[in-house]
Amino acid sequence: MKLYGDGIHEECGVFGMYSPQGLPVSEDIYYGLIALQHRGQESAGISVSDTRGDRGNLITKKGMGLVTEVFSKSDLDGLKGNIGVGHVRYSTTGGSLPENAQPIAMNYIKGSLALVHNGNIMNAGELKEEQMKRGQAHYTSSDSEVLAYEVISARVKTDSIEEAVRQAGAGLKGGYACIFMSPRKLTGLRDPYGLKPLVLGRKGNSYIMASESAAIRAVGGSLIRDIRPGEILTITEKGMKSDRIQVEGKEAHCVFEYIYFARVDSVIDGISVHDARVRAGRALARRHMVKADIVAGVPDSGLAAAQGYSLESGIPFALVFHKNSYVGRSFIKPTDEERKTAVHMKLSVPEHIVEGKKVVLIDDSIVRGTTMEQIIQLLRNAGASEVHVRISSPPFLHPCYYGTDVPTSGQLIASDHSTEEICRKIGADSLGYLGLADFDLMAGGLPLCRACFDGKYPV
Ligand code: AMP
Repeated sequence: MKLYGDGIHEECGVFGMYSPQGLPVSEDIYYGLIALQHRGQESAGISVSDTRGDRGNLITKKGMGLVTEVFSKSDLDGLKGNIGVGHVRYSTTGGSLPENAQPIAMNYIKGSLALVHNGNIMNAGELKEEQMKRGQAHYTSSDSEVLAYEVISARVKTDSIEEAVRQAGAGLKGGYACIFMSPRKLTGLRDPYGLKPLVLGRKGNSYIMASESAAIRAVGGSLIRDIRPGEILTITEKGMKSDRIQVEGKEAHCVFEYIYFARVDSVIDGISVHDARVRAGRALARRHMVKADIVAGVPDSGLAAAQGYSLESGIPFALVFHKNSYVGRSFIKPTDEERKTAVHMKLSVPEHIVEGKKVVLIDDSIVRGTTMEQIIQLLRNAGASEVHVRISSPPFLHPCYYGTDVPTSGQLIASDHSTEEICRKIGADSLGYLGLADFDLMAGGLPLCRACFDGKYPV
C-alpha cells in the first residue's frame, strides 16, 4: 500500500503520442497520464505541437497536483496539436516546486524541444557545472533540465534531434526513461541498463510511448514492444527509426517495478507484473508456510502476491480490507501520528471476516514499518486471533540512486533491526520475507537491479 505523504515515493510517469495523420493527441495524453498517476501525484503537464504548423510552436500547460486537478476541459481544448508529451511527477531531485513540473519546454536557436523524464541522472551535478560555465543551467536546475541542455547543446552542432540525443545519452550516468518532442519528431531514450521502463504502442495510425503498457491500453491502444535498454527510438512522419547509445552496460531492470511500482495490469520487458507478483506469493508460501485460516493482501500491491500465497498453500484468500480510494492528499500530514490516522481513513476491516481467525497478511514491502504496524492493529481490533506477516520482497536495506525516493538507510527499519525485532516492533505473530534467490523465478530470469536489497549497484 502507499499512502500519500509517506515520505517515500515512486518515480515519474511519461507518455508521448504522435499522429502522422494529424489527429489531436492532448485528450489521449491526458487519459494516459491518469493511467500513470500511481507513479507520481505531485505535478502534471502536457506539451503539444502541430507538426504541420510553424516550426517550434510548442504549447505547454503544467501545474502542481493530480492530472484531473491540473487540466480543465478548456486547457485540453487549447492544447491543439498532433504530437505531444506528458508527465506526472513525484520529485526525487530538484525539490517539490512548481518550476520543476514537466514537460521541460525550451526554445533554442534551431527550434524548440520538450522533454519528459523519469529517473535520475547521477552525474547531473558535473554536467551542470559545465553548463553553468556556458551560461545555460542555473544552480537550481533539476537533472531533467540538465539533460535538456545537454541535448540542445549537441543539437546545435548536429543535424538531427536523434543524433543529439545519442551524443548526449553517451555522457549520462543513471537510470532514465525519457521522451523528447521536437516539433516534428518523438524520440524515446531508455538507459542502457533498462532500469526504467519505457514501452512503444500504437492506436490506429498513431504511435505512443509510455512508462507502462497499462497507459497504452487505457487510451484504447495496443502494446508493440518495449523500448530496448540503450535504445533511441525516433518516430517521424516517415515511420520509426532505431539507434543505440554507445555505452557499455549489462541489463539490470528495476525489480521494484514488479514488486510495487508498476500497475498490476502492465507488462514490462515481457513479464506480466501480475504474474510476477503471483509467483512471488507462491515462493513466499514455499519459504514461510504457516497454519492459518485466511490469506489477506494489503491493497493494492499486496493482493496478487496474496493470491499466489493462497494458491500455493491452499489457505483461502479473503478480501479483508476495504480501501477508500477517495482519501485525498489533504488528509495527510507528515508527522507519525497523522500518518497513523491516514491508515485508518484509508482501510477498514469488517469484523465478521477476521474475528477469531488466524490471518496470513501479505504486503509487498516494509520500508520504515509504520504502515504494517497500523495494519496489524486494524486486524487485531477486528478480532484476528493471529497475524502472520509475509512480505513479497526481501528486507529493504539500501537506498536507490536511480530515481526512487527512499528514506536514508537509517530510516529503513531492516537496516538496524533483525527480522525478530521487526516482528516484535510491528506486533506480528511471525514475519517472513521473500528470498533474493526467489527473484529469478519471479521475474522469469530477467536480469535485475536489486540493489535496494543486496547493495550491488549496476551503475
Ligand atoms: P513503511 O510504512 O515505511 O514501512 O512503508 C511500507 C509501505 O509503503 C508498503 O505498504 C509499500 O506498499 C509502500 N511502499 C514501498 N515502497 C514505496 C515507495 N518507494 N514509495 C511509496 N510507497 C512505497
